[in-house]
Amino acid sequence: MERQQEFVLRTLEERDIRFVRLWFTDVLGFLKSVAVAPAELEQAFAEGIGFDGSAIEGFARVHESDMLVKPDPSTFQILPWRAEAPGTGRMFCDIQTPDGTASYADPRYVLKRALAKAAEKGFTFYTHPEIEFFLFRNEPEAGRAPEPVDSSGYFDLTPHGVGHDFRRQAITHLESMGISVEFSHHEAAPGQQEIDLRYADALSTADNIMTFRLVVKEVALEQGVYASFMPKPLTDHPGSGMHTHLSLFEGDRNAFHEPGAEYQLSKVGRSFIAGLLRHAGEISAVTNQWVNSYKRLSGGGEAPNYICWGHNNRSALVRVPMYKPGKSQSTRIEVRSLDSACNPYLAYAVLLAAGLKGVEEGYELPPGADDNVWSLTRAERRALGIQPLPSSLEEAIGLMERSELVAETLGEHVFEFFLRNKRAEWAEYERQVTPFELGRYLPVL
Ligand code: GLN
Ligand code: MG
Ligand code: MG
Ligand code: MG
Repeated sequence: MERQQEFVLRTLEERDIRFVRLWFTDVLGFLKSVAVAPAELEQAFAEGIGFDGSAIEGFARVHESDMLVKPDPSTFQILPWRAEAPGTGRMFCDIQTPDGTASYADPRYVLKRALAKAAEKGFTFYTHPEIEFFLFRNEPEAGRAPEPVDSSGYFDLTPHGVGHDFRRQAITHLESMGISVEFSHHEAAPGQQEIDLRYADALSTADNIMTFRLVVKEVALEQGVYASFMPKPLTDHPGSGMHTHLSLFEGDRNAFHEPGAEYQLSKVGRSFIAGLLRHAGEISAVTNQWVNSYKRLSGGGEAPNYICWGHNNRSALVRVPMYKPGKSQSTRIEVRSLDSACNPYLAYAVLLAAGLKGVEEGYELPPGADDNVWSLTRAERRALGIQPLPSSLEEAIGLMERSELVAETLGEHVFEFFLRNKRAEWAEYERQVTPFELGRYLPVL
């Protein structure tokens, strides 16, 4: 048996772990889990554990529903909020069909494929996310407005503030699971928090984001509050983004870094941005996958609305952060469109594919937008060649449908399922008569 598998089995005994949760993610980005007894694990490593794939969103059609979860022993961790003995462990899994091949429906496999393509060109893809979310006092209830736990703002520190204690507990849990946190602070909106993870290879980051969401929900439960990653829960306040910093490495060398170049950004870095910009519209449905996502993007609050890049420009879709002298490893770019409710595996796969396309084809980077693009007139933006991002899920679906890049990156199965699912979401949304309409029209019409 492999060394990592042995390590897991030994840890189960030594730490009195009686439950092991096998985790995977469905196509829409929801975490799934099946708990197994330690005695089953040896078999799980060797052959996988069977489950009904047709019951998982986006996985299989009914006539080919048998699937296997195969745990990845390198991801084994003990759940810190289940610390009392007997404890609970977890591992991320790959999904396989009964003949042992990787399942096309598995988002983790979609990302692995995209990473393998980058590896063929000699690149490793690193990401680090800034994850924003809200803390509310109440569980969601139809017709009731969410009540933020505080009325603080950006970087505020209130002694014994709910957010402060919350972040402290969440970060302690994350660190105990091997997930390093770089920054954390109160965000601009009431009740809004941000926690930034240290950079890691994109697959680990995506796994870490899935863990992060659960940790945050668990800590909220413990502390009697409700945590939400909904992109735009409050009409009059900014939404929750998941800005992600990206870089490509060739071995130990940061391929985005070039001493002396503008912003120390290499040709590879420039054409990577050009790829992100050129394909921004067609990948939007993946990076911003809900009807509500587009309320954030068009709602201001430093969420990007236009397809442009800049240096110190926080309205831009892509930003090149300030270079710190002597830190060639940290030259990177920040993509600001993603929201906290995307499927991180799929989102990172399409960002990588778009950027790499730019590198492969040597796309030229258009000039940066240094003005605040929101304050320009429509005509000025047009003159500068700055296009808007899709303004609704419907528009984003329309662009994705025609995208070869997205079809190829997600694979036919996920691509078709995703479009079908999103068209249905839009159709359901479109037929709603909303509180806005009733309030606006009923009294006067
Ligand atoms: N909340 C903003 C967004 O939705 C970001 C605010 C910030 O981090 N500057 O993107
Ligand atoms: Mg930040
Ligand atoms: Mg922020
Ligand atoms: Mg940011």
